[in-house]
Amino acid sequence: MIYYPQQYRIKDRRMQPFIDPGEIWDYINNTRADKALVREVIRASLDKKRLSLEETAVLLNATDPDLIEEIKEGARTLKEKVYGERIVLFAPLYVGDLCTNNCQYCGFRSSNKKTKRLTLSSEELLTETKALIDQGHKRLILVYGEHPKYSPEFIAETVKIVYSAKHNKGEIRRVNINAAPFDIPGFRTIKDAGIGTYQIFQETYHEPTYAKVHLGGVKRNYEWRLTSLDRAQEAGIDDVGIGALFGLYDWRFEVMSLVRHVNHFEAVYNVGPHTISFPRIQNAMSLDIDKTNIVKDEEFIRLVAILRLAVPYTGMILTAREPAHTRSQILRFGVSQIDGGTNLELGGYSKERKPDQDLSIEQFQINDTRSLNEIMDELIKSGYIPSFCTACYRLGRTGEHFMEFSVPGFIKRYCSPNALLTLAEYLEDYAPEETKNAGYKLIEDKVKDLSKTQKTDKLKEKIQQVKQGKRDLYF
Ligand code: SAM
Ligand code: SF4
Repeated sequence: MIYYPQQYRIKDRRMQPFIDPGEIWDYINNTRADKALVREVIRASLDKKRLSLEETAVLLNATDPDLIEEIKEGARTLKEKVYGERIVLFAPLYVGDLCTNNCQYCGFRSSNKKTKRLTLSSEELLTETKALIDQGHKRLILVYGEHPKYSPEFIAETVKIVYSAKHNKGEIRRVNINAAPFDIPGFRTIKDAGIGTYQIFQETYHEPTYAKVHLGGVKRNYEWRLTSLDRAQEAGIDDVGIGALFGLYDWRFEVMSLVRHVNHFEAVYNVGPHTISFPRIQNAMSLDIDKTNIVKDEEFIRLVAILRLAVPYTGMILTAREPAHTRSQILRFGVSQIDGGTNLELGGYSKERKPDQDLSIEQFQINDTRSLNEIMDELIKSGYIPSFCTACYRLGRTGEHFMEFSVPGFIKRYCSPNALLTLAEYLEDYAPEETKNAGYKLIEDKVKDLSKTQKTDKLKEKIQQVKQGKRDLYF
């Protein structure tokens, strides 16, 4: 079953497969979830302790509606405690849909005989990036199919092109990647291009199901994918994102496995993954999957709350796959990053926005088609601070050195002021009048709040500088 080169075969703890299905099912099937225990676990999490597999199983097994409410309430409190009111915004940019894999759930799969497959040229990539800059974006995730054309060198080149784009007062300050896994030298090449997070989803951690839905191509190799982010770490990429595609197998198994993946990183590299994603399967061209494990809304909300409590320090990403009302609801108890103004069509950002998606050319259906500004309006109205901050990564505060959660008061001293500064930039450069007024009112209120516990003179000074035309200011 292992068909990757000898030098990457399991040779030490770092490259070990770490999922033991027997262990996971044993916890799920044999862990009690009485009221006292559930409350004890929620308390541990509110003390910002990462939960063990057994503690996670306690939350998964709580079925009493009142206890589920307590879990959700706990997640809400924890999110406020750890992340405050910031929500980080980004957009996906699809670079190419060539793909040699045959993943049953995906519109790009090789068995879908599409009339056209596309890879953006350098010029098209620049044009798309500029269109995203003009929406107000500062952080992108570049997305690729898996194909020999999308080599590490190709990906590194596309990253450089995106960083080189300047338009009016804007530029992209952080480029994340969602692409196929590479070997260690390949990951090194991509790291050297200056990427932020490397994101790879395991899709399902359940190996037999993995084999059932991955019908062809390199991606069939479960272990190569499972250990991919270990190779990224070995190559020096210490900022990685994990995820599972919910709907392929039992959601409880996937939640336990995601927590196990976090444990693995903490044990081996002394740092957890930066983010967790939990996409639910959406409609796609000739979607062909067994529906038994489709995750209902109520289960989805529960699983996000449980993940929030289980891994208090890991960022959680909720994408436009979910409709606006689900996103607004879930934002409150777990999520730290969302995309805005999303368009999955290759070359789609620089075109007039079209009302309907064309699933014969796009990867899957999205259900939140609001513009970035509409999302900004809602966040501001709800009292969140929309953030485009990229300071930590640019100051080398990543991976083991990631300060956000390890230094007391870090969020108040750095993250919140930086979020407000990037919001002020957005308001000056991209917002319509109404958003601008509401946004500056929010900034005023938040600065007032901050001034109760710390000096805000420098922050006020920097906000003035942004108003006068200075850009990219941060603490
Ligand atoms: N080709 C790379 C790979 O597979 O890792 C890049 C990722 S793919 C373009 C991005 C992610 O989209 C996949 O990892 C998968 O989880 C998700 N995805 C694929 N089909 C989907 C669908 N029908 N609904 C929701 N998410 C889907
Ligand atoms: Fe290709 Fe990724 Fe889609 Fe699989 S999920 S078919 S690898 S683009």
